[in-house]
Amino acid sequence: MEGFQSLTKIQNAIHQGTLKMPQVLEHYLKQIKNHQHLNAFIEVFTDEARAIAIEVQEKLEKGTAGKLAGMVIGIKDNICYRDHKVSACSKILGDYVSPYSATVVERLIAEDAIIIGRLNCDEFAMGASNETSIYGSVKNYADPTKVSGGSSGGSAVAVQAGLCLATLGTDTGGSVRQPAAFCGIIGLKPSYGRVSRHGIISYASSFDQVGTLTKSIGDAALLLEVIAGTDDYDSTISSRPVPAYSKNLALKERQRKVAYFPEILNAPGLDIEIGNVFKSSIEQLQAKGNIVEAVSFKYLDYIVPTYYILTMAEASSNLGRYDGVHYGYRSKNAYNLETTYKKSRSEGFGTEVKRRIMLGTFVLSADYYACYPKAQKVRRLIRDKTDEILKEYDFILMPTTPTTAFAIGEESKDPVVKYLADIFTVQASLAGLPAISLPVGNNKNGLPIGLQLLGRRFGEAELLAFAKYFKEKVV
Ligand code: GLN
Repeated sequence: MEGFQSLTKIQNAIHQGTLKMPQVLEHYLKQIKNHQHLNAFIEVFTDEARAIAIEVQEKLEKGTAGKLAGMVIGIKDNICYRDHKVSACSKILGDYVSPYSATVVERLIAEDAIIIGRLNCDEFAMGASNETSIYGSVKNYADPTKVSGGSSGGSAVAVQAGLCLATLGTDTGGSVRQPAAFCGIIGLKPSYGRVSRHGIISYASSFDQVGTLTKSIGDAALLLEVIAGTDDYDSTISSRPVPAYSKNLALKERQRKVAYFPEILNAPGLDIEIGNVFKSSIEQLQAKGNIVEAVSFKYLDYIVPTYYILTMAEASSNLGRYDGVHYGYRSKNAYNLETTYKKSRSEGFGTEVKRRIMLGTFVLSADYYACYPKAQKVRRLIRDKTDEILKEYDFILMPTTPTTAFAIGEESKDPVVKYLADIFTVQASLAGLPAISLPVGNNKNGLPIGLQLLGRRFGEAELLAFAKYFKEKVV
């Protein structure tokens, strides 16, 4: 069976009677089995997914099925699903079973999506290569010696290799967009406050957002439409009504004003082929009548440090709850309260997570406290300056990543090098803006390249419509 490219195609085949839901599910179960070496799934809910597929088929026949009937979806292992394990790919949570479902999971189920399993990711979503996972790295389907990207690496490869139709990931500083770029698929991070964070294992709460990984813009739009919107369990969510994103994908007027930062073209770490694709997409947009202009953004050097100071501070506080008492792992060597905390945390967390907790505690400590409020001020500045650009321009265009997928093991030695690779994704996260990574072809070694569009706050409808035009007509 040819890999499915979009939900519409599956739904049409089901309506015509040439395909049944259990067949769709069996196709994916087989795909998962045949691609175990990619290490994308850490658990597959085979039996329950089979039972649900039969129910969905019945609903489809009766005409009572929800919007997502036909969709087989995987969820990143930091999204809670009632009565299922969730570990954030960390030893400290181990076999912890969630007593409730995330709002996004409830909304998927209410619309008859079938959740097929949980997906590998970096430990507590900290990373950009999926190499900090307790379950090991995820292999890129385009070249298994290369990383998947991260932290939602399993989510990206599952879609790339056709192990399910779509996946949910989380994006704090690029974790949906960067692996999407490395794997040649579409990764959407909505505006902060668009999608409920209830039931998402926190990394840095003022940044975390659930995002989608798909092969089609239509699926991204439909998924967002289903999962977005107000929720009593998340006080940071916006009460703005959710537009029917999937019905508004046709651009009303074609020409748009797009800004790009000329500094990026001379960025020392930018891969030549990515730079060339970026340049040619600017030219093609212009050739199609869009206004694309260079706008200088002089804060590029500050965005990565600001992001890491703030996210590490938030992480050190959020991860305080893993104490060997409340959740998951407790050290066998502990003999009183203090050693329970110390040994459980020392043995339960991996190196990268510990590094961030320590640095986060450091920037929040009394002696160095000036650092944290200063970073908050810089965040505000970056947000205001980005908003200013987006008052005049509809979108900002940039590469998603400075390089294509790198070799497994290659960048893990120097954390600073790794952090700097987040240069293009963290701006939208600091500013709370929606951003989408689009596949724009492969380099000469067959590795995917992604370009990214940033839109106005809560401008997902416009962003998705322009992304569709960009993908179909420009690149
Ligand atoms: N690579 C970034 C980090 O390690 C982004 C992670 C994420 O978005 N969860 O913080």
